[in-house]
Amino acid sequence: MSAPITILWLRRDLRLADHPALIAAAAHAHETSGRLLPIFIWEPGVFAGRRASANRTWFLRESLRELSRELEARGSMLLEVQGPGSSALPALVQHLTTSGTAANEIALFFTRDHTPYARARDRAVAELLAPRGVSVHATRGFTVVEPDELLTGGGTAYGVYTPYFRRWLERVSLNNERPLAAPATLPPPPSLKLPPALQPDHAAIERAAQPTATVALLPVPGESAARAAAERWITAARGNGVNGYAARRNTLADEEGTSRLSAALHLGLLSPRELVSRLLPLPPEREGERSGERLWVSQIAWRDFYTQVLWHAPHAARSSWKPAYDAIEWDTREGTFNAWCDGRTGYPIVDAAMRQLRETGFMHNRARMITASFLTKDLLVDWRKGEAHFLQHLVDGDVAANNGGWQWSAGSGTDAQPYFRIFNPVTQAGNFDPDGAYVRRWIPELAALKAPAIHAPWAHAAALAAAGITLGVHYPEPIVDHAVARARTLEAYARAVKGLPAPRGE
Ligand SMILES: Cc1cc2nc3c(=O)[nH]c(=O)nc-3n(C[C@H](O)[C@H](O)[C@H](O)COP(=O)(O)OP(=O)(O)OC[C@H]3O[C@@H](n4cnc5c(N)ncnc54)[C@H](O)[C@@H]3O)c2cc1C
Repeated sequence: MSAPITILWLRRDLRLADHPALIAAAAHAHETSGRLLPIFIWEPGVFAGRRASANRTWFLRESLRELSRELEARGSMLLEVQGPGSSALPALVQHLTTSGTAANEIALFFTRDHTPYARARDRAVAELLAPRGVSVHATRGFTVVEPDELLTGGGTAYGVYTPYFRRWLERVSLNNERPLAAPATLPPPPSLKLPPALQPDHAAIERAAQPTATVALLPVPGESAARAAAERWITAARGNGVNGYAARRNTLADEEGTSRLSAALHLGLLSPRELVSRLLPLPPEREGERSGERLWVSQIAWRDFYTQVLWHAPHAARSSWKPAYDAIEWDTREGTFNAWCDGRTGYPIVDAAMRQLRETGFMHNRARMITASFLTKDLLVDWRKGEAHFLQHLVDGDVAANNGGWQWSAGSGTDAQPYFRIFNPVTQAGNFDPDGAYVRRWIPELAALKAPAIHAPWAHAAALAAAGITLGVHYPEPIVDHAVARARTLEAYARAVKGLPAPRGE
């Protein structure tokens, strides 16, 4: 009979610090005088599915390499296994039992993941393993507050952010426990040779991990780089980092105005709870609604908010959160959608953002709002097409945050604003890229123009002539007239969503 085995199934928690499942699994292995087996399962959907992203797969693979080294440095290892998890785990357990460990000597630990896919998979795994005697333990760790932890007074899920955030802040301030330190050593792994069917297809992973973005512009993978970036963000003084967030977060060209920690948070290289615990409780002078620290903590709460929206309303992953919006008759022409994807709409702010996405795997939050509004409200293209395009490119692509952002922009989601608030891309550009630096960075063919011409070149013939730029030759003519497009969208929305207030002025 071999020693008991505790499997730690790592998924979107690829770190050692503040990792409740890791600490619990290591303690269990100690208590049972057994072995600890950290594993990562390559889900085919992650690297080869419809929503896979080469940028994210690259970031994942590189982050796993660092994690593997760090685990080895602590006397452990990382075993990579071919998925999907729902069949790989039962097969792994079978393999361990045939190698001499009784099923009731095997335990499985993991951090809860809340996407509809992960929930179905984890349920299937537990249903297959528990009857065989394997003990299955799911812990918190991906969010600060678990999605089923906060409900409204009426016992329903929150659909409006502001009251959610109020309760979230109370809850977090009350439970502000100290983060768990990364373990210095870990119980030894079992010696094990995987059967061929469970060995990952490294060649396929390698092919899937060739970034479409420029590698040097992608975030540095791994927990140590993420921790260093978070440290810089939290401790930077004098208007840099989090204390300058309120003033700088909406400036499109300011690459240091926001934390850029989203990819690390998405993969769990960082614990959101640890980040928040570094900032809370806020000192009295930073408690105000406009302090950078409070605003930034509220962004982490947005992440929890959208996670719980999808948890409570999994239908929103495929259809409108507000079902009436499914009746909108979208414009299905591929030409305009492709122009949007390629950054060729003739609206410089939109095109700059789409090119930033393609080249870097990242897009500024304000630019995500502008481009999503443009696709759904100016081009009247189904938000799901934009959602999928973002997921293919974003290195931080996250099912819940992305879906929440898209449905917010399309008006079909949790936004309390009426659907007839439609962003004017030129006004947005003037407000958030006042001197045109962002457009100039991503659309070199317009670099010779100054604001305001750079944001609406079609309306500035003299500036175009002076710069030697011909629309339709050097840069596209606008593919729609915003005023005309707006009227068409208002009509389509009103037709679909009967009973909504009649459209008024912008
Ligand atoms: C259409 C659309 C799609 C989006 N898709 C994603 C996505 O796939 N993945 C993703 O992480 N964020 C998404 N966002 C939210 C937001 O744009 C990014 O989190 C942010 O731009 C990341 O940059 P940052 O790390 O510098 O953020 P910061 O401003 O520094 O914020 C800190 C962290 O808070 C979280 N956060 C901030 N804003 C939001 C938000 N509105 N919703 C949820 N979490 C938030 C992120 O984890 C972020 O890293 C989307 C927003 C929109 C409008």
